Amino acid sequence: MTDLSAPAWGDELPSGADIVVVGAGIVGTAIAARLAATGADVCLLERAGPAAGSSSSGEGNLLLSDKLPGPELDLAMRSLSLWHELGDEAGARIELERKGGLVAAWDAAQLSALHALADRQEAAGVAVRRLEGVDLADVEPQLSRHVAGAVFYEADSQVQPVHAVAHQLERAVANGCRTVRGAEALRWRSGVEGAAVLETTCGSLRVGTAVVNAAGPWAGELAARLGSDLPVVPRRGHVLVTEPVVSVTAHKVYEADYVGSIHDAGDGWQCSSVVESTASGTMLLGSSREFVAWSAAPAPAIVAAIAERAIALFPGLAGVRLLRTYIGFRPATPDRLPAIGWDAEIPHLLHATGHEGAGIGLSLATAEAVQCLFERRTPPVGLEAFDPARFSEAPEPTKTAPT
Ligand SMILES: Cc1cc2nc3c(=O)[nH]c(=O)nc-3n(C[C@H](O)[C@H](O)[C@H](O)COP(=O)(O)OP(=O)(O)OC[C@H]3O[C@@H](n4cnc5c(N)ncnc54)[C@H](O)[C@@H]3O)c2cc1C
Repeated sequence: MTDLSAPAWGDELPSGADIVVVGAGIVGTAIAARLAATGADVCLLERAGPAAGSSSSGEGNLLLSDKLPGPELDLAMRSLSLWHELGDEAGARIELERKGGLVAAWDAAQLSALHALADRQEAAGVAVRRLEGVDLADVEPQLSRHVAGAVFYEADSQVQPVHAVAHQLERAVANGCRTVRGAEALRWRSGVEGAAVLETTCGSLRVGTAVVNAAGPWAGELAARLGSDLPVVPRRGHVLVTEPVVSVTAHKVYEADYVGSIHDAGDGWQCSSVVESTASGTMLLGSSREFVAWSAAPAPAIVAAIAERAIALFPGLAGVRLLRTYIGFRPATPDRLPAIGWDAEIPHLLHATGHEGAGIGLSLATAEAVQCLFERRTPPVGLEAFDPARFSEAPEPTKTAPT
């Protein structure tokens, strides 16, 4: 079991650091680990604890299958190869499993749309296998016979995100990163000549080059505290956990309309079935999407819909009992793409956030991109589509920058 309670954590706020990363989720710890490995002077601030936010509520999927060809797929492909390198180094500790993902279509229209997407993903270099009839039953024997066809993505993988956060934290600390738990970033301290000073609940620290906003679903709030506008809001999701069962599926299996639910901007809730097993034998059944701020009480109608749709995909789940339901909040931007790059107006502020339901998967390539920005190098994947400035309207000269 991973102990996150912390030999890795110091409690003393240093007087300053060149780079201050705010948020010890998967994104912040990946950045801290990567920068510290280059010898950078990094301090990681976290107000609660490691993986206290979104990163402990995800299923840990590292997916190519749900990415639309273009910048996000490119970032996901780069990140997946970095995850596989990390998996080779970290071994079983982060439970990285190259399990493969299967996307199931219920009818001919869905199947044709799924094939069209798979064609474009294949052209971008993703390995896909179209499956129907006996071939499909061979790969997923317990899948409903009402499924019209599917596409199998062998590269789709899974990791245990909390263990991955712990691993990155240890790597960061081993390379000299200072970590402070219980420190909440509040605002720039005004009246300090010639330097940026960040005020926290534990005191102030001088910032050399940048504060990195890795505050996940709170990134919009942190940006506002630092004088910027960044439209990152929480997008709620439910996940159901079953009792341990024997081999329902060895893959991640989800309905073809899942990709549409990510991009749906509707007011109500969306639910699309996602079914997968874990190393302990429990099944994770997901997932829903809705904008209801920080509402933490599970909605019975959503829990029922997730269970019904999972049983429709795998009828054998009908007699299986639920252990629990949990809620998490994805950091969502209006276009569902992350915000990675310098703030358009506020000096010393760099954003690395807004990954919606793909932050675990995209974290390592995000950290690599952040390192490239600090080193003024061109990142392997272009960042134009992720530029936080895309959300800016006309410049507002009244914004408060650090003095
Ligand atoms: C139900 C569900 C399923 C998901 N499934 C997957 C999946 O299968 N694959 C995938 O890739 N992604 C998945 N995601 C999305 C993924 O979990 C997120 O995109 C990712 O965890 C975001 O990581 P983060 O580090 O940016 O944010 P977080 O993990 O939320 O970390 C942010 C941290 O910042 C801290 N913080 C905030 N404000 C401050 C402040 N002012 N001062 C100090 N600290 C602060 C918080 O305490 C928190 O610890 C899922 C999400 C949900 C909700």
